[in-house]
Amino acid sequence: MIKRMVEFQMIYGIGIDIGGTKIAAGIVSNTGKVIFDKKVPTPKMGRSEILALLKSLILELEEWAERNALPLSGIGIGTAGQVNFYEGKVISGTSNIKDWNGVNLREDIATYSTLPVYVDNDVNVLALAESTFGAAKGYEEVICLALGTGIGGGILTNGKLLRGVWGGGAELGHMSIDLNGDPCNCGLHGCLETYASGTWIAKHMQMLRKEKGLSNHVTSRDVFELYEKNDPLATQVIQHMVHGLSYGIVNLIHLFNPQVIILGGGVMSERQWIVEMVHKKISTMGMKSLVENVEIKLSELNHHSGFIGAALQTWLYK
Ligand SMILES: [Zn+2]
Repeated sequence: MIKRMVEFQMIYGIGIDIGGTKIAAGIVSNTGKVIFDKKVPTPKMGRSEILALLKSLILELEEWAERNALPLSGIGIGTAGQVNFYEGKVISGTSNIKDWNGVNLREDIATYSTLPVYVDNDVNVLALAESTFGAAKGYEEVICLALGTGIGGGILTNGKLLRGVWGGGAELGHMSIDLNGDPCNCGLHGCLETYASGTWIAKHMQMLRKEKGLSNHVTSRDVFELYEKNDPLATQVIQHMVHGLSYGIVNLIHLFNPQVIILGGGVMSERQWIVEMVHKKISTMGMKSLVENVEIKLSELNHHSGFIGAALQTWLYK
């Protein structure tokens, strides 16, 4: 039998990651190579300023691709907030980006570009990036948690994102793990986010320090620094965080029977020791048949890769 070589076709996509503080954009190949990239601060004035900036970025990237004879497969966007994937519209924005609710990115971009446009939530595209090029490469049943100001989630089952009716599913940070817990801004009590997000790590430390009459001007970064110096209050806060995170993860394992849980976001950056603490904790929790053998891994792409995941959409969904 003669083996035929299948010619690998290079595809290029524009990827844009829209966050509260910066917008990162680039041209990415389907081998994961970043060909061109650019980072700009997110305009503070709100929607019209952001849309104008997106237009100039997209036109610049399209021109660059044309000059370099790179055929483009489309424009992929990952943005904070809830996104109607099918309409390309931000349904419920984030307080970090002003006036972002209801903006239809696909319709807006169609007024100046003929390329197909895909818009998704930033953690969904992180899950895509991890499963294609990162820590979840080769896995089909993946849960991704991004621990930052809040907690975002992405679920891949059978290698595909689980979206729900319009794409709003996998709000994993708003899974309640305590009926009597702290009130969350979503309206529930005791959400995973109120245990393990940067905002709440800082809040819990502030509460404990206030009780002791200590200065309560501390950020989550301070809590991690103090923890590394064996500060007893920081130790209490981190143990509370790991406990909550472990409960959340065991719930997710019971529900979805995943192969791997990827932990990313600013809170997790380079902190392999949190992964190890969680791993140790969950090994004594929940249903053994499901919990044993689940891998917990640190995101490999994390902050650098928002636009890589965003660009991936342009060839994954073709
Ligand atoms: Zn909530």
